[in-house]
Amino acid sequence: MSSGFTQVSGWGQTSPARTFLRDAQSVKELHNVLTSVGRRGAIARGLGRSYGDAAQNSGGSTIRFTDRSFSFDADRGVVTASAGATFDDIMTQIIPHGWFVPVTAGTRQITVGGAIAADVHGKNHHHDGSFGNFVHSISLLLASGDVAELDRSSHHDLFFATIGGMGLTGVILSATFDLLQVSSAMMSVRTERHGDIDSLMESMLRNDSAFRYSVAWVDGTATGKHLGRGVITHGDHASSDEVRSNHKRPSDYRSPTTIDIPPFVGAARSVRRSTSLLFSELWYRKAPKLREGQLVSIPSFFHPLDGVGHWNRLYGKNGFVQHQCVVPLDRDDVIRSILQRVSSDRPANVVNVLKRFGEGNDAHLSFPQPGWTLTVDLPVTSQLSTTLADIDEMVSSAGGRHYLAKDATTGSHSIRGGYPRLGEWQHIRHRVDPDQRWQSDLSRRLNLCATLKETE
Ligand SMILES: Cc1cc2nc3c(=O)[nH]c(=O)nc-3n(C[C@H](O)[C@H](O)[C@H](O)COP(=O)(O)OP(=O)(O)OC[C@H]3O[C@@H](n4cnc5c(N)ncnc54)[C@H](O)[C@@H]3O)c2cc1C
Repeated sequence: MSSGFTQVSGWGQTSPARTFLRDAQSVKELHNVLTSVGRRGAIARGLGRSYGDAAQNSGGSTIRFTDRSFSFDADRGVVTASAGATFDDIMTQIIPHGWFVPVTAGTRQITVGGAIAADVHGKNHHHDGSFGNFVHSISLLLASGDVAELDRSSHHDLFFATIGGMGLTGVILSATFDLLQVSSAMMSVRTERHGDIDSLMESMLRNDSAFRYSVAWVDGTATGKHLGRGVITHGDHASSDEVRSNHKRPSDYRSPTTIDIPPFVGAARSVRRSTSLLFSELWYRKAPKLREGQLVSIPSFFHPLDGVGHWNRLYGKNGFVQHQCVVPLDRDDVIRSILQRVSSDRPANVVNVLKRFGEGNDAHLSFPQPGWTLTVDLPVTSQLSTTLADIDEMVSSAGGRHYLAKDATTGSHSIRGGYPRLGEWQHIRHRVDPDQRWQSDLSRRLNLCATLKETE
């Protein structure tokens, strides 16, 4: 077990925290950590890929459960993994056997614990829902030091409060989840370029149900009649025949990081507007108007950013906020308004992703709900807080919500409005953690663990 006071931050690097960082390799070591947690409490941390302050605890303890072991039943397609196991490790082992994770985020550098605690969603949400839908059981270390075995029938409430619960119900020790059977390690992709947001959204609504995966990159620098122009990628797992006819081996899988952004690049104050304008123009122009049946590897389809190590440094030393919201399907006007708002900002943003979510699940704080979800990367500038306040207002008044795993700045009133089951979740949490052992910078900023009296 290693430990010490150190500085950690989320992937956006906006609000670093000094915390007592403790690595525990076994449940016994976790128990030892728990006995010495002080008034500022403790929070679990995976690989720190949440963007804001969810996996850090200033002045308190931050715990990394470093056991990365997992077992895989190749006949049934079921994995039982320690919470510290990474999607990268799991995918490397299962893909050559014809299995895939049921849901993957835009990076494979996340842990099973982080995936459950944020109930991560992927490009297949409209088809399959979020990661929690595939979890059978969770082993959870409670504040009392007991270990609870949770599933859909036993401790039903705590099971769903833990999925999407941002580490605030306890430390997930391990979980068992289903995999998806696939015929190859390649994706068959259809790409469409659209000159404005109306045509892009209309095409997504018309076509996305025909594909398991679907997502659009939206040009955050385009304005006027080109507002929201972008590129849709739809995809399905390719059949082995399709792959063989392209002279490739169906089960070949590699997940390389090709370049690494060195620390000195991050010394720049922020990304330049001219760079983002150029990038956006090239990205849009390089996409074909329509291309079908292109075979691409799993990493290029799902995790293109993982090919560039420390790409978050490109935003400069001030960091960036990744804002993700979802608004009801009939409030597509809000998506237009947000794009109008960010496209008028300097410096412009580069990575903007639009997707249609399907049905949500029973987890109290799970983010996805039916509607449009828009993700925008916003470099930190002097005007950022005004931009974010405007966007938050648009989202809240449309009955939308913010994604806690990305959030770094929202106020508690937006979260209360966006998550109507927060009170129910707080009751369950209070039952298992009356002394507030589990705390994070996110939970304090948003008053998530308010005692019941405070919320009445
Ligand atoms: C490039 C990139 C792309 C992304 N794309 C997506 C996407 O498409 N969809 C999506 O949903 N998310 C996406 N994310 C966000 C990311 O998937 C989530 O934030 C995920 O939770 C990160 O996992 P982690 O292991 O790094 O957890 P951390 O960031 O370390 O922690 C996240 C939360 O999980 C909790 N946690 C971690 N481990 C445990 C544990 N053992 N027990 C209890 N709680 C725990 C923490 O307390 C914290 O609240 C993306 C992030 C990046 C950097």
